Amino acid sequence: MGNDIKIRVLGCGASAGVPLIGCDCAVCRSDNPKNQRTRVSILIEQEGQRLLVDTSPDLRQQCLRHDIRTVDAICFTHAHADHCHGIDDLRPLNFHRGSVIPAYGDPVAMEEIVPRFSYAFKPPVPEYGWFRPALEAHLVDVENWTAFSVGNMRVQPFPQMHGKLTTLGLRVGNFAYSTDVHHLPDKAREILEGVEVWIVDCLRRGASPTHAHLDLTLEWISQVKPKRAILTHMSHEFDYDALKAELPEGVEPGYDGMEIVLS
Ligand SMILES: [Zn+2]
Ligand SMILES: [Zn+2]
Ligand SMILES: [Zn+2]
Repeated sequence: MGNDIKIRVLGCGASAGVPLIGCDCAVCRSDNPKNQRTRVSILIEQEGQRLLVDTSPDLRQQCLRHDIRTVDAICFTHAHADHCHGIDDLRPLNFHRGSVIPAYGDPVAMEEIVPRFSYAFKPPVPEYGWFRPALEAHLVDVENWTAFSVGNMRVQPFPQMHGKLTTLGLRVGNFAYSTDVHHLPDKAREILEGVEVWIVDCLRRGASPTHAHLDLTLEWISQVKPKRAILTHMSHEFDYDALKAELPEGVEPGYDGMEIVLS
């Protein structure tokens, strides 16, 4: 239906992905495809509009896997490499769209991303075709919690703490996404109120200065009380089946390719 929100988990792995290069642990050696986690990214779709959240280094593989040919906008949660270094693979998306893609991010993130990938923010040169990605930077005013729109999709950003860095949490309808966060400020909790489905950071079992760990994630979930909580940004410490079996009702690990529909 028109107002349905469809979310595709494109990747749910920690910054180095799972399996880790050169690791012989049971999870990295597992045959279960749900233990193979590319770097975090999701695609949110509503009323025919598609918002890609982050451009992970695995973007190419993620687009091929799900036949994603183009998107209507991108939102960067922050400037860490595992969230934006797939930026060059946007070129075919520009090609299929035939135009520049709007890219949203807060000023802290865009101050790093725009100079780091300056070529992607230059105006296209039509006679050369899409020889480089073509993005148009839009600053998200998270200080004033100003929502932005992708067609009729309303995206409400909220601030999160990720070590000393701020990251963007996003709410669309009754869905919210919180990756790379170790502390939820009051404003984030306010915007999360009444959310039905929440995808939330859960790096590992042990505490981290920059990410939520299992106990902390579960504590937040018991406070926010979504109907359904899905864990993301998971390291190789988590075996999908074992983690699923130990989680309380309404909480589940995410997996690459997972699809969620909210009506
Ligand atoms: Zn990350
Ligand atoms: Zn491993
Ligand atoms: Zn990060």
